[in-house]
Amino acid sequence: MQIQQEAQDAQVVVIGAGPAGSATALHLARAGVDVLLLEKDALPRDKVCGDGLTPRGVHQLLRMGVDISGEGWRRSHGVRVHCEGREIDVDWPATGRYPDFSLTRTRHDFDELLAHHAQSAGVRLLTRTKVTAPLRDAAGRVVGVTAVGQDGEPVEHRAAVVVAADGAPARTALATGWARSTRTPMATAARRYYRTDAFTDDGYLHLWADLRCADADAWLPGYGWLFPLADGRVNLGLGGLPHRRHGNTDLRATFRDWVARLPEGWKLDEATAESPLRSAALPMGLNRRPQYRDGMLVVGDSAGMVSPWSGEGIGEAMEAGEIAAQAVALALTRPSGSRREQALHHYPSEVTRRWSRHYQLGNALAGQVFARFGYRPLFNRAVMSSPATTRLLARIFGHLRA
Ligand SMILES: Cc1cc2nc3c(=O)[nH]c(=O)nc-3n(C[C@H](O)[C@H](O)[C@H](O)COP(=O)(O)OP(=O)(O)OC[C@H]3O[C@@H](n4cnc5c(N)ncnc54)[C@H](O)[C@@H]3O)c2cc1C
Repeated sequence: MQIQQEAQDAQVVVIGAGPAGSATALHLARAGVDVLLLEKDALPRDKVCGDGLTPRGVHQLLRMGVDISGEGWRRSHGVRVHCEGREIDVDWPATGRYPDFSLTRTRHDFDELLAHHAQSAGVRLLTRTKVTAPLRDAAGRVVGVTAVGQDGEPVEHRAAVVVAADGAPARTALATGWARSTRTPMATAARRYYRTDAFTDDGYLHLWADLRCADADAWLPGYGWLFPLADGRVNLGLGGLPHRRHGNTDLRATFRDWVARLPEGWKLDEATAESPLRSAALPMGLNRRPQYRDGMLVVGDSAGMVSPWSGEGIGEAMEAGEIAAQAVALALTRPSGSRREQALHHYPSEVTRRWSRHYQLGNALAGQVFARFGYRPLFNRAVMSSPATTRLLARIFGHLRA
């Protein structure tokens, strides 16, 4: 499926074939735009993730025309919350707008599937092509990228618009001097795969709100998860913000202590582990705003779009990709100049219109509550015994109200 690398220009260059980049490229191609999607790795490739998609993320897959009925997908009706000896099942609400189920699929093939879906819509995908720097004109506007191609040779790709979807490190944005805001939360999370038949018929994603930090007398300023996958494995992980008093938590030790306490019958031990524990950063709360400047849009983790409520970022990356593509497609119908710029600036305006209330409240809660006490206060006995309150929490956490 891969095309040979030649010096190629395009109307739009998209950097990174994660969910943000593939979604942006797909929606652009569908709008008739000529797109070059550059990915540094060969696909499939692994990505440290929980592999879970909330109903809002599933909605985006449907909008992209992804077939979610085949092998490799696993549905869940909701979330089973574990907190201080109590368990409660919180089903995803039937809102009429969003699906009432979530999905899991390993990022190993999820990202490849999205990239090939974009390719079949007309996107020119170049894997093993690492962008090394943005190209800028005399006025500082981004007009393309330099990259190292599949043959190891440097190459230039020029474009009217560049989309940086290169993930949490956000190297392209940083290369233009575009630093992230340090006022928004930055979490770290770690995950490991296990093979077990204990969850074969389980219809829920599992969440633990009462984990203790291994290296401090404090609640984990985050949560633990167990997401069953379609292939008989589970994705077990935990994540957290830096603690307000104790700083960064030792996630590895906290993970080890937690796993040792889980029921023996779940068979989560060294014998069933199928990967090392790997961790990565979660840039949250919209940490690069506005998300357009000087010819370049930032989408997904490179714009810090992970939800400060839930730590989910896949659905957000795909939704932002669609919004970005709409703005760029309109912009390209106009000659370069102020009217084109006006269309490009619509991307951050629309992100703000849809998300800013949700993120502002989430950022405040992350700083004031989650970073001190974790998620435990939200899942106290009173909350967990009120079906109406837990339903409301599911809507808020899943961003299913808008
Ligand atoms: C442990 C953990 C668990 C998580 N669990 C979940 C979860 O269950 N559900 C959820 O919704 N979110 C989860 N997230 C967040 C989610 O992984 C991200 O929000 C999501 O991957 C963002 O997508 P993206 O496309 O912006 O970035 P990425 O998925 O990181 O994709 C960026 C792409 O850009 C490529 N790239 C980078 N630099 C270059 C370059 N110079 N040239 C060319 N290509 C480049 C990379 O190779 C990569 O393919 C989790 C994160 C972590 C760390």
